[in-house]
Amino acid sequence: MITCPTCERPPTKRDGRDHRDRQSYACGPCRRDFTAGSSSIFAGYRWPAEVILAAVRWYLSYSLSIRQVTELLAERGIDVSPRTVLTWAHSFGPQLCWRPGDGVPKGKGLGAPAAT
Ligand SMILES: [Zn+2]
Repeated sequence: MITCPTCERPPTKRDGRDHRDRQSYACGPCRRDFTAGSSSIFAGYRWPAEVILAAVRWYLSYSLSIRQVTELLAERGIDVSPRTVLTWAHSFGPQLCWRPGDGVPKGKGLGAPAAT
């Protein structure tokens, strides 16, 4: 069951759709509006979690430069600055560091970078 990310109580009611067409909820006790993604570590970022995860994974796993990661994203139609990718790496890298056997963070359809 979804709970309010602020007070952790169940939402009082459904409250229409947000600008990305996601179900919005209203919390009666704290009067906050939220969606199922509001408590995600990616909440507030412009790009979807799968794009951020792919960029950080490529940067950390394949020892690519920030500029190379930016170019790989651009090949997939994702126009971000190297500074943005660097910010993602600094923000999410420590949380996403993994060792073999820990499993791989799941992306959605971007795949591994092509060999150059
Ligand atoms: Zn609340």
